[in-house]
Amino acid sequence: MLETSRRDDSVSSKDRQIRIEDSVKLSQDILHCARGGLPRAEFLEEVTNLLLDFSECDAMEIRLSDGSLHYCWEVTRRPGRGIRFDLAQWIVEEDGTVIPATAADSGLEWVCRHVARQQFDSRLLCFTDTGSFWTGNTARPLSLLATARLEGGSENLHIGGQYGSLIAIRFFVTSLTVGLLLLKSRQPDSFSAEEVEFYEGLAQTLGLAVADRRAEAAVRERVKELTCLYGISNIAESETTPLSGMLQHMVHLLPPAWQYPEVAAARISLDGDAHVTPEFRESRYRQSADIVVSGRTRGKVEVVYLEERPEFPVDVFLPEEEKLIDAVAREVSLIVERRESQEERSKLNHQLIHADRLATIGQLAAGVAHELNEPLGSILGFAQLAAKCPDIPRQAQKDIDRIVSASLYARDVIKKLLVFARQMPPSVAPVSLNQVIADGLHFHEARCAKAGIEIVRNLADGLPKVEADPAQVNQVLVNLVVNAVHAMPEGGTLTISTRSEDGKVMLVIGDTGVGMSEEMIDKIFLPFFTTKEIDEGTGLGLAVVHGIVTSHGGSIDVESQFGKGSRFTVHLPTCGSRAVDDDEHGRRQ
Ligand code: ADP
Ligand code: MG
Repeated sequence: MLETSRRDDSVSSKDRQIRIEDSVKLSQDILHCARGGLPRAEFLEEVTNLLLDFSECDAMEIRLSDGSLHYCWEVTRRPGRGIRFDLAQWIVEEDGTVIPATAADSGLEWVCRHVARQQFDSRLLCFTDTGSFWTGNTARPLSLLATARLEGGSENLHIGGQYGSLIAIRFFVTSLTVGLLLLKSRQPDSFSAEEVEFYEGLAQTLGLAVADRRAEAAVRERVKELTCLYGISNIAESETTPLSGMLQHMVHLLPPAWQYPEVAAARISLDGDAHVTPEFRESRYRQSADIVVSGRTRGKVEVVYLEERPEFPVDVFLPEEEKLIDAVAREVSLIVERRESQEERSKLNHQLIHADRLATIGQLAAGVAHELNEPLGSILGFAQLAAKCPDIPRQAQKDIDRIVSASLYARDVIKKLLVFARQMPPSVAPVSLNQVIADGLHFHEARCAKAGIEIVRNLADGLPKVEADPAQVNQVLVNLVVNAVHAMPEGGTLTISTRSEDGKVMLVIGDTGVGMSEEMIDKIFLPFFTTKEIDEGTGLGLAVVHGIVTSHGGSIDVESQFGKGSRFTVHLPTCGSRAVDDDEHGRRQ
């Protein structure tokens, strides 16, 4: 019976002539789709639609294995052109052949498996010479097919369903993978031998097209990656854009480099600041890489897919995308590292220039001070002598007193200038900073209380002693405290803390006062820089502090925010012996 079924089919099939031009055009259209760069799902949809229109059959199915992913794409002409797109189950055999393994064990699945495996008995007429399956009457029991060589042959293999005619053709995508093209028609005896032969040829074109699309897609992905990396390195070159501006630019380069840019969003976060593309939100489809700068994780680069796409595989992100996001994170790390070392360099440079300027001014000041010291000594000496003369008129006596006090003031200024210029060598001894604070602050408590200033002490226990001139250290403390008090005319908090770190002792004086601008901070250590009234300040306080601290081998830092307050941190080297405060001896060995 089967012997005749094919002949019946071919005789009674619709007398449909396939014109050469049409078939060539169809092949061209399919190849064109492959090269058009369509994503996989769209490509399959387009191709099945082309085939459906061309063939006039009722349904068209393409089963395709793509790497570890297997798809089943079906379009039906009626009702309403339904589309089914599934990730399908397949088995990969030892030789690499991929066999559909759908649980539904219908006759159709049986056919698909045997066509894919190329297990056919060439004597059976429902298999063509090249192993495609073709029947014009699917209702006919196929029990005869279950010959000895076909495992799992059941007695009643209805291909059944709504389709009377069926062709199933195997095609190669690469030598290791397989796809299946299925044409289904409601009418029995719908396909002619000529048509079957034609579709067998077309299936091979389809295989070529799929391989083409893959190569095309792979190249496109590489181009996207390279474009992204090129864009990032371009942005990185700009020396003037601030880091956060750079990261904001970079984050926009990420989504287009991913496989599904239309649903992709990205975020680059660094030190708690996030730079995002507009639609960014958390998603289960997420890929990320850490930004590690000098061994420390400082942030992340993240790419997410905001929506699910029908063709999403289990591993949504490509291995290349994994590498790309790592490369981007590395690039960001390098940029941050470069930026920070640049900043560090320019800060050091600025400090050097500042120190150099202060030293020059110091030399100048010392020169002037020495020159003035002599004549000033004479003025003071002679004035004091003159004051001792008997019978000086009262007015002259008063004037001489004024000369004496003005000379004393001038001598004080000269002394301060000499300290600033480090021309007054300290007479050093081990000094307990906490003790200097305890003694020195004593004199300021009443004044602070009156001005509404609260004093907070945070003095470290077991603070190592410093090798210093106690009078000069006291001078440092007093000058800084007096400035802080002046900075808080409306009251506030004066915080005095000490701590030790890396062989240095730190004295920190903080206030909640008026604060300073950047330009002010640049000038405060210059002698005679003051913002105060004539009788309130000479502008020598911080110059003296700077002179004392540097002559002790220490340094001083200022942090200040205009309107918020200031903090001065003095670093002094500890005694080599690391002698601890007397009162701590009991507790430390
Ligand atoms: P003087 O106190 O005589 O003005 P200084 O050398 O001690 O001179 O200080 C210089 C200037 O630095 C001050 O006039 C003031 O403008 C600024 N300054 C110093 N310390 C502070 C502070 N804690 N808060 C705000 N400004 C300060
Ligand atoms: Mg002062």
